[in-house]
Amino acid sequence: MMARKDWDTYFMDIAYMASTRSQCSRRHVGAVLVQGKKLLGTAYNGAPMGVPDCSEAGCMLVEEYELVASDGKEQVVKKQRCIRTIHAEQNLLLFTDREDREGSVVYVTDQPCWTCANMLANSGVSEIVFHRPYPKDSDKVRALMEQRGMTFRQLDNYEPPAGTVSEVKN
Ligand SMILES: [Zn+2]
Ligand SMILES: [Zn+2]
Repeated sequence: MMARKDWDTYFMDIAYMASTRSQCSRRHVGAVLVQGKKLLGTAYNGAPMGVPDCSEAGCMLVEEYELVASDGKEQVVKKQRCIRTIHAEQNLLLFTDREDREGSVVYVTDQPCWTCANMLANSGVSEIVFHRPYPKDSDKVRALMEQRGMTFRQLDNYEPPAGTVSEVKN
């Protein structure tokens, strides 16, 4: 018999399941809203309803320069990003009610970007649990979470369910 899963594993598994719905070839992100151990919403990154998504229309890529630190040295690196999709965290906020978010926990497969973190900080959510790191603006996001008094933690020793992980392009 399989060992019973703890709550963190259980809800992160569901976030990874949600992420498999994403049609963006660059990044599959899933997020779930949990209030008092009750699942109140699931979301993934995708184009608005009725609009062709990345699998039909291709990713909508923008290029930007990013300051990246490696081996103690800072370097400017050109990166590509798909802007066709609404991020999973933003979709989660669009499809849940304010009352359901008060004091809730968001489980998200990837560390939220600055915009999502900023929105989550004003959404009633009090804790964010993520799995894969996302280095861009990570310091700013952490500082924001601290200022806002929100719990922000990465799950370690966690293995996503088989078949739910796609390659991530940062
Ligand atoms: Zn895309
Ligand atoms: Zn985001």
